Amino acid sequence: MNIHLQELTWSQIDEYLQHDDRLIIPVGSTEQHGRFAPLGTDTYVAMALAEDAGEKSGVLVAPPVWTGWSPHHLVRPGTISIRAEVLIELLFDTISSLATHGFAHFVVVNGHRVVNIPWLQIAAERAQRELQVKVALFDPAWMSKEFAGFSDGIGHGEEIEISHMLHCFPDLIDLQQAGDNPAGGRELYHVDPADRRDTLCYVPATVEDMKKIADISGDTVTGRPSLASAEKGRAYHEHLVGRLVQVLEQMRQERS
Ligand SMILES: [Zn+2]
Repeated sequence: MNIHLQELTWSQIDEYLQHDDRLIIPVGSTEQHGRFAPLGTDTYVAMALAEDAGEKSGVLVAPPVWTGWSPHHLVRPGTISIRAEVLIELLFDTISSLATHGFAHFVVVNGHRVVNIPWLQIAAERAQRELQVKVALFDPAWMSKEFAGFSDGIGHGEEIEISHMLHCFPDLIDLQQAGDNPAGGRELYHVDPADRRDTLCYVPATVEDMKKIADISGDTVTGRPSLASAEKGRAYHEHLVGRLVQVLEQMRQERS
Protein backbone atom coordinates (compact mmCIF):
# COMPACT_ATOMS: atom_id res chain seq x y z
CA MET A 1 0.00 0.00 0.00
CA ASN A 2 1.32 3.44 -0.94
CA ILE A 3 0.87 5.57 2.17
CA HIS A 4 2.15 8.89 0.76
CA LEU A 5 -0.78 11.23 0.31
CA GLN A 6 1.02 13.31 -2.32
CA GLU A 7 1.62 10.24 -4.50
CA LEU A 8 -2.02 9.15 -4.53
CA THR A 9 -4.93 10.34 -6.65
CA TRP A 10 -8.07 11.94 -5.21
CA SER A 11 -10.01 8.78 -6.00
CA GLN A 12 -7.55 6.67 -4.01
CA ILE A 13 -7.94 9.06 -1.07
CA ASP A 14 -11.69 8.73 -1.45
CA GLU A 15 -11.36 4.96 -1.26
CA TYR A 16 -9.15 5.19 1.87
CA LEU A 17 -11.73 7.41 3.55
CA GLN A 18 -14.36 4.71 3.12
CA HIS A 19 -12.64 2.65 5.81
CA ASP A 20 -10.26 4.97 7.69
CA ASP A 21 -10.02 8.63 8.72
CA ARG A 22 -6.59 8.69 10.34
CA LEU A 23 -3.63 10.67 9.01
CA ILE A 24 -0.05 11.27 10.16
CA ILE A 25 1.42 14.74 9.59
CA PRO A 26 5.22 14.98 9.97
CA VAL A 27 6.43 18.43 11.06
CA GLY A 28 10.10 19.33 11.28
CA SER A 29 12.36 22.27 10.61
CA THR A 30 14.96 23.48 8.19
CA GLU A 31 17.74 24.61 10.50
CA GLN A 32 21.46 24.24 10.94
CA HIS A 33 22.60 20.97 12.55
CA GLY A 34 26.33 21.51 12.60
CA ARG A 35 28.85 20.90 9.83
CA PHE A 36 28.10 17.20 9.74
CA ALA A 37 24.29 16.92 9.49
CA PRO A 38 21.80 18.36 7.00
CA LEU A 39 19.53 21.32 7.63
CA GLY A 40 16.54 19.05 7.13
CA THR A 41 17.48 16.65 9.96
CA ASP A 42 14.34 17.27 12.07
CA THR A 43 12.04 16.85 9.08
CA TYR A 44 13.83 13.71 7.87
CA VAL A 45 13.47 11.97 11.23
CA ALA A 46 9.79 12.96 11.48
CA MET A 47 9.23 11.56 7.98
CA ALA A 48 11.04 8.31 8.78
CA LEU A 49 8.94 7.76 11.92
CA ALA A 50 5.71 8.67 10.13
CA GLU A 51 6.45 6.42 7.14
CA ASP A 52 7.49 3.36 9.13
CA ALA A 53 4.54 3.61 11.53
CA GLY A 54 2.21 4.40 8.61
CA GLU A 55 3.36 1.27 6.76
CA LYS A 56 2.85 -0.92 9.81
CA SER A 57 -0.59 0.53 10.55
CA GLY A 58 -1.86 1.13 7.02
CA VAL A 59 -2.29 4.84 7.79
CA LEU A 60 -1.64 7.59 5.24
CA VAL A 61 1.12 10.17 5.73
CA ALA A 62 0.72 13.82 4.66
CA PRO A 63 3.54 15.74 2.94
CA PRO A 64 5.90 17.00 5.66
CA VAL A 65 5.96 20.54 6.97
CA TRP A 66 9.58 21.44 6.32
CA THR A 67 9.71 24.60 8.40
CA GLY A 68 9.51 25.15 12.14
CA TRP A 69 10.10 27.82 14.76
CA SER A 70 13.89 28.19 14.70
CA PRO A 71 14.83 31.82 15.46
CA HIS A 72 17.93 30.74 17.41
CA HIS A 73 19.36 28.76 14.49
CA LEU A 74 19.35 31.74 12.14
CA VAL A 75 22.92 32.11 13.41
CA ARG A 76 23.93 29.77 10.55
CA PRO A 77 23.15 30.05 6.82
CA GLY A 78 20.40 28.01 5.27
CA THR A 79 18.13 28.07 8.32
CA ILE A 80 14.51 28.99 7.56
CA SER A 81 12.45 30.05 10.59
CA ILE A 82 8.77 30.76 10.36
CA ARG A 83 6.94 32.82 12.97
CA ALA A 84 5.05 30.87 15.61
CA GLU A 85 1.73 32.23 14.35
CA VAL A 86 2.55 31.07 10.82
CA LEU A 87 3.28 27.56 12.08
CA ILE A 88 -0.04 27.53 13.97
CA GLU A 89 -1.96 28.71 10.89
CA LEU A 90 -0.11 26.33 8.56
CA LEU A 91 -0.92 23.28 10.65
CA PHE A 92 -4.49 24.43 11.26
CA ASP A 93 -5.13 25.01 7.56
CA THR A 94 -3.62 21.62 6.68
CA ILE A 95 -5.92 19.87 9.14
CA SER A 96 -8.87 22.04 8.14
CA SER A 97 -8.45 21.20 4.42
CA LEU A 98 -8.28 17.49 5.11
CA ALA A 99 -11.14 17.57 7.59
CA THR A 100 -13.33 18.87 4.76
CA HIS A 101 -12.88 15.49 3.07
CA GLY A 102 -13.49 13.34 6.10
CA PHE A 103 -10.10 12.91 7.77
CA ALA A 104 -10.89 13.16 11.47
CA HIS A 105 -8.02 11.64 13.47
CA PHE A 106 -4.59 13.23 13.10
CA VAL A 107 -1.23 12.44 14.63
CA VAL A 108 1.34 15.22 14.30
CA VAL A 109 4.91 13.91 14.54
CA ASN A 110 7.25 16.69 15.67
CA GLY A 111 10.84 16.21 14.53
CA HIS A 112 11.85 19.64 15.89
CA ARG A 113 11.76 18.19 19.36
CA VAL A 114 10.40 20.29 22.23
CA VAL A 115 10.73 23.63 20.39
CA ASN A 116 7.69 23.38 18.09
CA ILE A 117 5.43 21.94 20.78
CA PRO A 118 3.58 25.04 22.13
CA TRP A 119 2.51 26.10 18.64
CA LEU A 120 1.44 22.62 17.66
CA GLN A 121 -0.59 22.44 20.88
CA ILE A 122 -2.38 25.70 20.05
CA ALA A 123 -3.15 24.54 16.48
CA ALA A 124 -4.30 21.11 17.71
CA GLU A 125 -6.62 22.55 20.36
CA ARG A 126 -8.15 24.98 17.87
CA ALA A 127 -8.64 22.20 15.31
CA GLN A 128 -10.36 19.98 17.87
CA ARG A 129 -12.63 22.82 18.99
CA GLU A 130 -13.53 24.27 15.61
CA LEU A 131 -13.38 21.26 13.31
CA GLN A 132 -14.62 18.41 15.54
CA VAL A 133 -11.52 16.34 14.84
CA LYS A 134 -9.04 14.63 17.16
CA VAL A 135 -5.37 15.62 17.08
CA ALA A 136 -2.57 13.85 18.94
CA LEU A 137 0.94 15.28 19.17
CA PHE A 138 3.90 12.91 19.06
CA ASP A 139 7.26 14.31 20.15
CA PRO A 140 10.25 11.93 20.05
CA ALA A 141 11.87 13.53 23.12
CA TRP A 142 8.78 13.00 25.25
CA MET A 143 7.95 9.62 23.75
CA SER A 144 11.40 8.21 24.54
CA LYS A 145 11.81 9.39 28.12
CA GLU A 146 12.36 5.88 29.42
CA PHE A 147 14.55 4.76 26.49
CA ALA A 148 17.95 3.93 27.98
CA GLY A 149 20.06 3.41 24.86
CA PHE A 150 22.03 6.67 24.97
CA SER A 151 24.71 7.91 27.34
CA ASP A 152 24.00 11.61 26.81
CA GLY A 153 20.79 13.64 26.86
CA ILE A 154 19.06 16.00 24.47
CA GLY A 155 20.99 18.80 22.85
CA HIS A 156 21.23 19.80 19.24
CA GLY A 157 22.98 17.70 16.61
CA GLU A 158 23.74 15.40 19.56
CA GLU A 159 24.15 11.65 20.06
CA ILE A 160 20.41 11.01 19.88
CA GLU A 161 19.37 12.70 16.66
CA ILE A 162 22.61 11.91 14.89
CA SER A 163 22.26 8.21 15.79
CA HIS A 164 18.72 8.37 14.44
CA MET A 165 20.00 9.91 11.19
CA LEU A 166 22.85 7.36 10.95
CA HIS A 167 20.23 4.62 11.03
CA CYS A 168 17.69 6.20 8.65
CA PHE A 169 19.78 8.44 6.35
CA PRO A 170 23.48 7.48 6.76
CA ASP A 171 24.48 9.14 3.48
CA LEU A 172 23.48 12.55 4.83
CA ILE A 173 25.82 12.44 7.84
CA ASP A 174 29.55 13.14 7.81
CA LEU A 175 30.73 12.23 11.31
CA GLN A 176 34.33 13.12 10.38
CA GLN A 177 33.27 16.75 10.57
CA ALA A 178 31.57 16.40 13.97
CA GLY A 179 32.93 18.15 17.05
CA ASP A 180 31.56 17.69 20.57
CA ASN A 181 30.21 20.49 22.73
CA PRO A 182 28.92 18.84 25.92
CA ALA A 183 25.69 20.33 27.28
CA GLY A 184 26.04 22.52 30.36
CA GLY A 185 24.87 21.13 33.68
CA ARG A 186 22.51 23.87 34.85
CA GLU A 187 20.45 22.88 37.88
CA LEU A 188 17.37 24.63 36.48
CA TYR A 189 16.30 25.45 32.94
CA HIS A 190 17.87 22.31 31.59
CA VAL A 191 16.10 21.08 28.43
CA ASP A 192 15.47 17.35 28.37
CA PRO A 193 12.17 15.66 29.30
CA ALA A 194 14.12 12.66 30.59
CA ASP A 195 16.21 14.79 32.99
CA ARG A 196 14.88 15.67 36.44
CA ARG A 197 16.29 19.19 36.03
CA ASP A 198 13.94 19.96 33.13
CA THR A 199 11.62 22.82 34.06
CA LEU A 200 9.37 22.58 30.98
CA CYS A 201 10.11 26.29 30.47
CA TYR A 202 12.24 26.25 27.36
CA VAL A 203 12.93 29.56 25.62
CA PRO A 204 15.12 29.53 22.48
CA ALA A 205 18.52 31.20 22.84
CA THR A 206 19.26 34.48 21.12
CA VAL A 207 21.42 34.50 18.02
CA GLU A 208 24.07 36.28 20.15
CA ASP A 209 24.08 33.40 22.64
CA MET A 210 24.32 30.94 19.78
CA LYS A 211 27.39 32.82 18.55
CA LYS A 212 29.01 32.21 21.94
CA ILE A 213 28.45 28.46 21.50
CA ALA A 214 30.07 28.82 18.09
CA ASP A 215 33.07 30.58 19.61
CA ILE A 216 33.60 27.78 22.15
CA SER A 217 33.08 24.78 19.89
CA GLY A 218 33.79 26.06 16.41
CA ASP A 219 30.39 24.72 15.40
CA THR A 220 26.83 25.32 16.58
CA VAL A 221 25.76 22.10 18.25
CA THR A 222 25.11 21.06 21.84
CA GLY A 223 26.00 17.56 22.93
CA ARG A 224 28.35 14.80 21.86
CA PRO A 225 27.69 13.64 18.30
CA SER A 226 30.88 11.56 18.47
CA LEU A 227 28.92 9.07 20.62
CA ALA A 228 26.38 8.50 17.82
CA SER A 229 26.00 5.15 16.09
CA ALA A 230 23.61 3.59 13.60
CA GLU A 231 22.99 0.73 16.04
CA LYS A 232 21.81 3.09 18.80
CA GLY A 233 19.72 4.87 16.18
CA ARG A 234 18.06 1.62 15.12
CA ALA A 235 16.99 0.76 18.69
CA TYR A 236 15.71 4.30 19.23
CA HIS A 237 13.84 4.34 15.92
CA GLU A 238 12.19 1.00 16.65
CA HIS A 239 11.16 2.18 20.10
CA LEU A 240 9.54 5.31 18.66
CA VAL A 241 7.87 3.54 15.74
CA GLY A 242 6.39 1.09 18.27
CA ARG A 243 5.05 4.00 20.28
CA LEU A 244 3.62 5.71 17.22
CA VAL A 245 1.91 2.50 16.10
CA GLN A 246 0.43 2.32 19.61
CA VAL A 247 -0.92 5.89 19.35
CA LEU A 248 -2.47 5.09 15.95
CA GLU A 249 -4.05 1.92 17.33
CA GLN A 250 -5.46 3.88 20.27
CA MET A 251 -7.03 6.27 17.77
CA ARG A 252 -8.48 3.40 15.77
CA GLN A 253 -10.14 2.04 18.91
CA GLU A 254 -11.48 5.46 19.84
CA ARG A 255 -13.11 5.77 16.40
CA SER A 256 -15.18 2.63 16.75
ZN1 LIG B 1 17.28 18.61 15.32
